Amino acid sequence: RAKESGRDRYEVFDKAMHQQALERLQLESDLRRALEQQEFVLHYQPIVELVTQRLVGFEALIRWQHPERGLVYPDTFIAVAEDSGLIVPMGTWVLQAVCQQLRIWQAVAGSAALTVSINLVGKQLKSPNFVTQLDAILAETGLVGECLDLEITESTLLENTESIKTSLLQLRERGLQISIDDFGTGYSSLSYLHQFPINTLKIDRTFVQQMSHGKKDDSIVQTIITLAHTLHMEVVAEGIETTEQLDRLKALNCELGQGYLFARPLDQEQADHWVNRACSS
Ligand code: C2E
Ligand code: MG
Ligand code: MG
Ligand code: MG
Repeated sequence: RAKESGRDRYEVFDKAMHQQALERLQLESDLRRALEQQEFVLHYQPIVELVTQRLVGFEALIRWQHPERGLVYPDTFIAVAEDSGLIVPMGTWVLQAVCQQLRIWQAVAGSAALTVSINLVGKQLKSPNFVTQLDAILAETGLVGECLDLEITESTLLENTESIKTSLLQLRERGLQISIDDFGTGYSSLSYLHQFPINTLKIDRTFVQQMSHGKKDDSIVQTIITLAHTLHMEVVAEGIETTEQLDRLKALNCELGQGYLFARPLDQEQADHWVNRACSS
C-alpha cells in the first residue's frame, strides 16, 4: 500500500510539473507572437532631483498590452523571456522605442538633458551583437550615448564574464551611464563595484520603505549613500512613497529618487505632459 500511495504522489507531482511546463511553453509562444504583433508598450517613471523635485529623466518600464488579459506587468514574463532568449529581441525593441521617444522629447526645447534608464539582463549584455546594434540605433536616431542609462543588477555583475566586462567598457566609451539596480539585495562585493565602470547605485525600494519604521533601518540606506559617494557615484532611491521618506533621504544627501510620491510609471502621453511642464518652467 505504501508503495502505491508513493506512486500516486509521484503521479500528482508529475502532472503538476507537466501542467507547469505546458503553461511556460504557452507563455513563451504568446510572447513570441506579442513581439511580432508589437503588443509591448513602454511606461516611463519620472526620476527627480530630490531637493528641487526637478525632472532629470525617466526609467522605461515594459508592459504587455495583452488582447484579452489587458495590461500585463513585467514580473510575470521577464523571467520566461530571459530563459527562452526572447529577451534579446525584446530588449532591442525597448532600446529602439526609447531612442525614438528621446529624440522626440529632445526636440522639445530645453529637454536635451533628459536621461532615460533602461533595464538590461546579463543575456543582453553578453549577446555578441548588443553594442553593434546600439551603435546602429544611436546613429539612426542621432542621439548621443550620454542620454542613456543602462540598469543592471548585482547578479549580472557577479557573473563577471569577459563578455560582460567588455560590453560595459564599450558602453562607457560611448558615454552611456551604468546603474546598479535594486542595490543591496544582491551579493556584490566592493571589489566588483570597483572593477566595473559604474555611475549610479539605485537603492532598492525595500530599504527605502523600511525607513519609515524606526531609526534602526536607516542604517542600510545611510551606508549605501556613503558607499556611493565614496566611490564617486550618484544615488537614486527607488520606491519613495511618503514625505517622511523623502525628508530623511534629503537629510542623508541622497540626490535623486523615484516613486509613487512623485509619479507612478506613466503612459507616453502623461510622460509628454511631464516633459512639457519641465521645459516650460
Ligand atoms: P525595477 O527596474 O526595479 O523597476 C522598479 C519597479 O518598481 C517598477 O515595477 C515600478 O513600477 C515599481 N515602483 C516604482 N515606484 C514605486 C513605489 O513608489 N512603490 C512601489 N511599491 N513600487 C514602485 P514594474 O514596472 O512592475 O517592473 C518590475 C521589474 O521588471 C523592474 O524592476 C525590472 O527589473 C523589470 N523590467 C521592467 N521593464 C523591463 C525591460 O524593459 N527589460 C528588462 N530586462 N526588465 C524590465
Ligand atoms: Mg530598474
Ligand atoms: Mg529597481
Ligand atoms: Mg526590481
